[in-house]
Amino acid sequence: MPANDDALGWLNRIRINAAKLDSVSAQEPALSSRHRRAYDRGMPRRMTIAGQIEQLIGNLAGTPICDDCITDRLNLSVRSQANVVTRELGKRDEYDRTKASCGQCGALKTAIQIKI
Ligand SMILES: [Zn+2]
Repeated sequence: MPANDDALGWLNRIRINAAKLDSVSAQEPALSSRHRRAYDRGMPRRMTIAGQIEQLIGNLAGTPICDDCITDRLNLSVRSQANVVTRELGKRDEYDRTKASCGQCGALKTAIQIKI
């Protein structure tokens, strides 16, 4: 009976389409969790100390900041944490680490700034 075959074929097409829809929606959670992970990376609590220091220096847009003020601003437990990072950043082309007047405390000491 051709009519029944058509109806069966039509039903099968719907089932196939439904299965395709299922597979599409099954991919969505993976996509959104990938976005969630990217979002978490941007959260300060999840950032490394080096990342937080880089961000802080970048936010100051060329204003020098000393290791003590970095330690204060980021609530680091010891000043050497900031020192280790700023010494490394100071070797990079995009940063200047020299004796300068710190934009936070005003003291003339070794401070780092981003070149703008
Ligand atoms: Zn300072």
